[in-house]
Amino acid sequence: MSTDVRDRLTVRREAGSSRATALVDVGALRENTRTVARLTGTPVMAVVKADGYGHGALVLARAALAGGASALGVTSIAEALLLRRAGVDVPILSWLNAPTADFRPAVHARVDLAVASVEHLRAVVDASRRAGVPAIVHLHADIGMTRDGAASQAWGRLCHAADEAEVAGHVLVRGLMGHLGSADRPGSAATTADLDRFEAATDTARAAGLRPSTRHLGGTAAVLTDARARLDVCRVGAGLVGIDPAASGAPLRAAVTLLAPVVSVREAEAGQRVGYGETHVLDRPTRLALLPVGYADGIPRITTDRAAVLLHGRRCPLVGLVSMDQVVVDVGDLPVRAGETAIVLGPGTHGEPTAREWAGWAQTIEHEIVTGLGPRVERHHTEETS
Ligand SMILES: *Cc1c(COP(=O)(O)O)cnc(C)c1O
Repeated sequence: MSTDVRDRLTVRREAGSSRATALVDVGALRENTRTVARLTGTPVMAVVKADGYGHGALVLARAALAGGASALGVTSIAEALLLRRAGVDVPILSWLNAPTADFRPAVHARVDLAVASVEHLRAVVDASRRAGVPAIVHLHADIGMTRDGAASQAWGRLCHAADEAEVAGHVLVRGLMGHLGSADRPGSAATTADLDRFEAATDTARAAGLRPSTRHLGGTAAVLTDARARLDVCRVGAGLVGIDPAASGAPLRAAVTLLAPVVSVREAEAGQRVGYGETHVLDRPTRLALLPVGYADGIPRITTDRAAVLLHGRRCPLVGLVSMDQVVVDVGDLPVRAGETAIVLGPGTHGEPTAREWAGWAQTIEHEIVTGLGPRVERHHTEETS
């Protein structure tokens, strides 16, 4: 076993853990941020939503800032306030709040707010009046995903209302934002159409009198593969944790390793059922190891009979259905003993399965694998730079 895996295992043992543990490589997060900044030549807004894509929001935020990011992005106000309360002082943009949200603490804490409708704008103006400070807003245009953002027919009215609110001193319109939803297929005509719509939305905003200083698009796939998506700042999350959704070839490193201790090892005979139901019947005598990770920890149930974990440097297949809390692994004749550590997922540098492989087994994307790591998985942060 190489030194750095041993180091990781040492970290785990020092923590006294007998549970599944996610080791987060802070050096990788920092280097990935530097890589994205270098490749895009643009300031980076580090997106740390969903608890930093499962890596810890504050851990990812601090690593990204150390790697040169200039701003942070989150969905909810609660996520933004968590960062502020931890002392993070850079601009933070929160873009997904219902108009019924309590915007006042966000305005007080100088959290930038994305606004996607006149109704949203009214709520933000109301909060800024009560807070006695103008809210900093970014108008969000739907440029093709038909998801968040103002639809094109509502955009002009939103821009005019925002201009009025700005003239009245209630808001400062710092940004215009859109999102590119088809950029994982580089060269797609949909992306060109989306970019054209963003330009048209910008013209409408300027015609309404707005002078936003910061126009921005995301996410990782777009800004890594399409120079047209790099405006004043790039909103990037996945790339920071080592995901390259458009296979751009950027030298990004996966930052999380999921370890699980072997709870027990048993001998089993041909013909024995394994786990719930009768989905897996052993066709030969073997040895089975039990790991305390299941679908509540982010191991997708659908991966049964495809997935494997690394023990003694070898891939050992999962057998039987994934349970809520546990999985059974066929270790064959490997001399595995209780208390040893399996590598469930990692960068792949030692032969362990990657998040990409897990995503393939689960018919999903890496994002869902890393953000799915459950709350009872212990997080530890290491400073590897290999
Ligand atoms: C999640 C998100 C991002 C980051 O996207 P990645 O592909 O993870 O880099 C950027 N902008 C918006 C609006 C998002 O929701």
